[in-house]
Amino acid sequence: MRLLVVEDEVRLARALRRGLSAEGFTVEVAGDGLSGLDLARHGDFDAVLLDVMLPRMSGYDVVRTLRAEECWVPVLMLSAKDGEHDRADGLDYGADGYLTKPFSYVVLLAELRALLRRAPQPRPAVLGTGDVRLDPATREVTVAGEPVSLTPRELGVLEYLLRRPDRVVTKIEILDHVWDAAADVSPNAVEVYVGYLRRKLGRELVETVRGAGYRLRA
Ligand code: CA
Repeated sequence: MRLLVVEDEVRLARALRRGLSAEGFTVEVAGDGLSGLDLARHGDFDAVLLDVMLPRMSGYDVVRTLRAEECWVPVLMLSAKDGEHDRADGLDYGADGYLTKPFSYVVLLAELRALLRRAPQPRPAVLGTGDVRLDPATREVTVAGEPVSLTPRELGVLEYLLRRPDRVVTKIEILDHVWDAAADVSPNAVEVYVGYLRRKLGRELVETVRGAGYRLRA
């Protein structure tokens, strides 16, 4: 398995290279964000360990750029920051995992193995179909680049559909995932919200599959 370590702290980078090589990994090291991005694009790696605070380009920007370019290599972020916000940022930008420094080497290896068990697959940070885009991190929706204002519930229904692009989803599924379990809502509410989405985002967006539910039109 080929690993890319993007880390500017020379001692940590060296320790990671030594330790991971001893575990049988092939390890390449980049010392700044830009060269890390360049290697990650072209290097055919099985996983990337990516520091957040890096010279020339932050780890956040590296992972965001990779995902925008549809490069789905698994990325584990390593950071000295431990605020909840930072972790959420990393994951929203498309990282697969997040370790706070100082981390235990045993935990690092376990995270890495978990990552490698999952084959890389498209995990777009921004969801979309046709000319509709939804950024789950900012909750912003655009149609052909123009912002559209949606209520939280409309956003919930849209996100649920966008995350299941090739499937028919039933009203009950949408109800279970978007409405509070305690809420006493009839499945007709789903119909109403799909109606709002069609009105705001285009009639063509959601197809009704008679007797089954809804499906996004590609
Ligand atoms: Ca750093």
